[in-house]
Amino acid sequence: MDYKETLLMPKTKFPMRGNLPNKEPIRREQWEEEQIYEKVQERTKGRPLFVLHDGPPFANGSLHIGHALNKILKDFIVRYRSMTGYHAPYVPGWDTHGLPIEVALMKKKKYKRKEMDVAEFRRLCAEYALQQLDNQRNEFKQLGVRGDWENPYITLTNDYEAAQIKVFGEMAKRGYIYKGFKPVYWSPSSESALAEAEIEYQDKKSPSTYVAFEVKDGGNLLEGDEKFIIWTTTPWTLPANLGISLHPDLEYVVVQVGHDKMIVAEALYEDVSKELDWENPKIVKTFKGEKADRLVAKHPFYDRDSLIMLGEHVTTDAGTGCVHTAPGHGEDDFYIGEKYGLEPLSPVNERGVFTEEAPGFEGMFYDKANKVITEKLEEVGALLKLDFITHSYPHDWRTKKPTIFRATSQWFASIKDFRQDILEEIKKVNWYPNWGETRLYNMVRDREDWCISRQRTWGVPIPVFYAENGTPIITNETIEHVSKLFAEHGSNIWFEKEAEELLPEGFTSEHSPNGKFTKETDIMDVWFDSGSSHEAVLLQREDHHRPADVYLEGSDQYRGWFNSSLSTAVAITGEAPYKNIISHGFVLDGKGRKMSKSMGNVIVPDKVIKQLGADILRLWVASVDYQADVRSSQDILKQVSEAYRKIRNTFRFMLGNLNGFDPKTDAQPENELEEADRFMLQQLQKLVAEVRVNYEKYEFAPVFNQIHNFCTVDLSSFYLDLAKDILYIEEEDSKRRRSIQTVYYEILMTLTQLLSPIIPHTADEVWEYIPGDKAENVQLTDIPQPREVEGYKEIEEKWEHFMDVRADVLKALEEARNDKVIGKSLEAKITIVPKDEKTKEILESIEHLHQYLIVSRADVVDQAGDAKDYRYVSIAVEKHPGDKCDRCWVSSDTIGEDPDHPELCTRCATIVKEHYSA
Ligand SMILES: [Zn+2]
Repeated sequence: MDYKETLLMPKTKFPMRGNLPNKEPIRREQWEEEQIYEKVQERTKGRPLFVLHDGPPFANGSLHIGHALNKILKDFIVRYRSMTGYHAPYVPGWDTHGLPIEVALMKKKKYKRKEMDVAEFRRLCAEYALQQLDNQRNEFKQLGVRGDWENPYITLTNDYEAAQIKVFGEMAKRGYIYKGFKPVYWSPSSESALAEAEIEYQDKKSPSTYVAFEVKDGGNLLEGDEKFIIWTTTPWTLPANLGISLHPDLEYVVVQVGHDKMIVAEALYEDVSKELDWENPKIVKTFKGEKADRLVAKHPFYDRDSLIMLGEHVTTDAGTGCVHTAPGHGEDDFYIGEKYGLEPLSPVNERGVFTEEAPGFEGMFYDKANKVITEKLEEVGALLKLDFITHSYPHDWRTKKPTIFRATSQWFASIKDFRQDILEEIKKVNWYPNWGETRLYNMVRDREDWCISRQRTWGVPIPVFYAENGTPIITNETIEHVSKLFAEHGSNIWFEKEAEELLPEGFTSEHSPNGKFTKETDIMDVWFDSGSSHEAVLLQREDHHRPADVYLEGSDQYRGWFNSSLSTAVAITGEAPYKNIISHGFVLDGKGRKMSKSMGNVIVPDKVIKQLGADILRLWVASVDYQADVRSSQDILKQVSEAYRKIRNTFRFMLGNLNGFDPKTDAQPENELEEADRFMLQQLQKLVAEVRVNYEKYEFAPVFNQIHNFCTVDLSSFYLDLAKDILYIEEEDSKRRRSIQTVYYEILMTLTQLLSPIIPHTADEVWEYIPGDKAENVQLTDIPQPREVEGYKEIEEKWEHFMDVRADVLKALEEARNDKVIGKSLEAKITIVPKDEKTKEILESIEHLHQYLIVSRADVVDQAGDAKDYRYVSIAVEKHPGDKCDRCWVSSDTIGEDPDHPELCTRCATIVKEHYSA
């Protein structure tokens, strides 16, 4: 007789190999057909709301690994909440306005913006943005991210723009919007003002120049033949020089060098002296800065005064203590110039080219003019030194080109008027990680007013009219009217109609006696667009609320979306738009380097999905400590695939061993389960508790590790191994067998649920193979609450202690294997000598002890001569002398006792006789 036929070997159609790249797309189609997202919403209706508000990616280009990290993390949270008592809708969003789209149209499609009708160009921008959105949407769906993909929010839709206009109007109503002429970050490459959020610092090589300004009026303090020495790295701003700033409290010295008398701060005298190679310098006079107030120097190459002013911004960190001041090209310069009544001069146009206000340099690009201007200084004898330095310099974060400071008329949001309220709100938000709070707090504390106007085309117009005398008009009535027009026609109407047609009917103003009006042509900073989403989405969508529960974005959004959303929300509601902020790091390569095409170390999500599967990419996201910078490489993904394979095999093993199990008829009551089974069931409860806690703290790496450990340690090396000698061998319907299957069944259901937020494709697949009645999809179930397994209290101590003793036995077996005493552990016969009463009692009370230790025989005795010493017991390991049973492979003394089946042990012989005799 072939005894193999009599074994109940695991049997399942659940494939060993995931074959994810081929099977996942089919499953996603199925989700769409079955409308899983809608069903989840339907099922959870009426529960407490949990809103994770999506930060809109920019609709341009295909997805990179950072996008994938971001959206997958969000998906973990939303899926988890939907399975733990919440109604958690997820509405993806897109940011669709902005310069990169204008640039794409001009570069890729060769449109000439300046020669086109504005409204027409904007229509093309919209079309392009929506195409990009479509591509990105498909890519996001491929990641398995579940959401309302057919009804996303888009910043260019009429209703969104109308809501944004309302935010602007509300801020204006509170007096937070003003027009000012002052220096702002200006990007010649973008031909637009930039907000601080759009600046990034990069190294730049600049000239380092020391320039002499002759004294023109020294008052009672100076003789008139001295020179103020300034230091600058932007000689191109010298045409705009209107003064020199000194610190009122610093000491200044007049130094005789040859025939010249130079003025510098005393604290910097030695440095400057070395720098300029002064020979035999001699201090001839010392005075306090304040004494020089309103003295006059001569501009080095224009026939113009340069006023000596006093400012607290002057430091002795570098330079000479005499600071070149061009109120049109610097913030400090601007404010001190304002104090002294100087009109800022900014002789550079939007492309960074000198205007006729800078005689001698008209038409020159500012950076090129550096050279010409230093030559001019040399020519007039004002240049004391020219050198070059590399320093950190503000760049346009989109074009990566250097920016300048340029005084222009711009619209500002007056952060200072509600800064204190923002800072208070920051304290009320929960920050993951903790340092996020300090980061945003300091950023807001140090922040200047927000320049919200841009001199571009593709964006939401600033809804301001001008009267005949230039007075700006923003009233409730005009805002309300424009908002209504945008809601109906979209913002393009602003460019299609004349100002008078955009105003409410019969609108008049005392400033426009002839009834003529004009309109603003600047558009709003795109950060104002996305920063208004709390109004346009959280407030207006059914199933949403403000504040949202979570905003989750990359750590660059402290200066971006976290910041702009907070500013506009506090301005109009007094409250933060979010309760929790979660930020994630950047994705680096396996060695911690930035990914770049030239390095060939870029991991592209689309490729990973096609090679390994979305669930592997998702499992990778779950495995990293995402709040810091994370690493990804082919090797790392290979390791993740290996972990996936183990988890998948665990599922497969349990599914196979549930073959023929019907939970309705075969499941055993909990209080009748064997002790070891109740013990395992309780381990599962512990896992559920820990995993839930970590999901709730948004810590997914521990979730992944705990589940992975449970599969590989608790299950694989103990419970699954142990089960083989029972599930394969015992009678199909035996209580012992059914007891284990009952626990397998619960473990399988629960693990599938716990993993569903992370690897939804695989979880769905497993779910299909689980026997018995169940929900149509695991996504439509709730993760169970951990419970106290019946009768666990009484066995807890015993079985935990047993697991400790088992660790001793495993060690002994391992050593015996190394010494070639045994091969497989099932060949072993072990003799255990407990070291204390408790251990003895416990071991003696366990029926079939050898099964739990996966050996052929385990005797507990008081003494054994050759036993080796371990922590709780001494153990002697020998090869079991008896033959191996042909059916169960356990070595036994009972083999041959049954003459009908001489190759079997008595246990097997009995089973075979009863169930398989012909
Ligand atoms: Zn047997």
